[in-house]
Amino acid sequence: MQHPAKVRVRFAPSPTGGLHLGGVRTVLFNYLFAKKHGGQFILRIEDTDQTRYVEGAEQYIIDCLEWCGLIADEGPHVGGPFSPYRQSERKERYRPYAEQLVQAGHAYYAFDTAEELDKCRKEIPNFQYGHTYRNQMRNSLSLSETEVQQLIANGEPYVIRIKMPQDETVTFTDMIRGEVSFDTNLVDDKVLLKADGMPTYHLAVVVDDYLMDISHAFRGEEWLPSAPVHLLLWKYLGWEAAMPQWAHLPLILKPDGHGKLSKRDGDRLGFPVFAMNWLDQKTGDFTPGFRELGFLPEAFLNLLALLGWNNGTEQEIFSLAELIDQFSMERVSHAGAKFDFEKAKWFNAEWIKKVAPARLQDLIIGQMKQQGIELEDTVYLSRVIDLVKDRLVLLKDFWEQASFFFQAPEGYDLEAVKPKWTVEKAAFYASMMQGFKDLSSWESPDLEARFKAAAETAGMKVGELMLPFRVMLVGGKFGPAVFDIAALIGKDETINRIEKALKAFQS
Ligand code: GLU
Repeated sequence: MQHPAKVRVRFAPSPTGGLHLGGVRTVLFNYLFAKKHGGQFILRIEDTDQTRYVEGAEQYIIDCLEWCGLIADEGPHVGGPFSPYRQSERKERYRPYAEQLVQAGHAYYAFDTAEELDKCRKEIPNFQYGHTYRNQMRNSLSLSETEVQQLIANGEPYVIRIKMPQDETVTFTDMIRGEVSFDTNLVDDKVLLKADGMPTYHLAVVVDDYLMDISHAFRGEEWLPSAPVHLLLWKYLGWEAAMPQWAHLPLILKPDGHGKLSKRDGDRLGFPVFAMNWLDQKTGDFTPGFRELGFLPEAFLNLLALLGWNNGTEQEIFSLAELIDQFSMERVSHAGAKFDFEKAKWFNAEWIKKVAPARLQDLIIGQMKQQGIELEDTVYLSRVIDLVKDRLVLLKDFWEQASFFFQAPEGYDLEAVKPKWTVEKAAFYASMMQGFKDLSSWESPDLEARFKAAAETAGMKVGELMLPFRVMLVGGKFGPAVFDIAALIGKDETINRIEKALKAFQS
């Protein structure tokens, strides 16, 4: 592939709520493309719709990107040569372009009140403010110039709408979909500038992509219907030559492939859809996130990368560096990608095995803190992690898999032991306690050798003695190799646990 001359991409979210995993995948593909081509990744906050603004959403987005390690080169939190990066702070910049469009006959003032528009929607089936009805509405196309001047002078509120051309086909080349065409008759005259002087998304996205020198704009497929409006704005503003190359990323689908994966599907099916926990300040709604559930950001990015992309081989595990190296838009599919939570967990389990021990330890300490469990950063902890990490799917599983390393079991799986419990077995463990006491070394192979030798002397099967021993130390039928457990918890603790369990088994 030819290297584009300069690459500047942007993620342009509206701060209206938590960040859906599809949003993070959009960030990821933008980021990978930028980094692959030595370009910049920009975060721009599209907050011109004040009615949908949600307190805390911008900071949440910034935190999500930080958690994922997708660090923006420019943005409201770090500044940059094109500041400000928050559209509400750029308000004054948009009106001149809207006026320029009016002067050129590509846009017009519209004075219709909310009530008038409601009436049209009610009375006219499939009402569209466009070429069919615009001349019957109150706007600068239907009114005389004097009337328009009068209305403006009277302080009558108005918006500026784009005048969609009639009977035209608008075409562009999408990097994923190839040539895409739109019939302009099917697109309404979108509002560009609102009565409060704020631009709408359509005007602001085009003006800012131009002013911020954006070279490529990758966004979700749901924005495809807006593309004809944006294309025409680029053309009408005389910026066509500078228009970014676009790509509309495939949808992320529900597990059954029927429709877009929504927040509600996550609630219904019991998995997160947002990157991090999100508490909506407006509604009080809480939505769980991948981070708090115990996903590693490495795994989260890895699984997102494969929702719509692959490198043409069977390889599934990719680090961020490998993704940067191998990513290409040519290999992004246009078909929707099904989200599979079981597969997502598989990625996490693989990454838990793969990350550096010190990092895993930090993550587990953090995760346990969330559950109210304080773990000291010790050599002991790192040995525990080493023994159980292959059994973890989520970081939060740690306590379930490892609590017995820190405290004696409070109960026992008696079902597993009692049916086959015998007086001989009780005698075996009682003498085993003594045998262990006499051991001078306390390493796993020595314990195993002593245990097996004792079983042989007693004429008993080792296989039958192991399970009760495990239940004594762990409480249940799970955990890593039993002699590794005994070795790590230490001699006194092992003996104490045998003693305590013997009482419980016999009662
Ligand atoms: N503000 C839009 C959003 O919320 C941005 C879409 C685009 O990238 O053009 O996703």
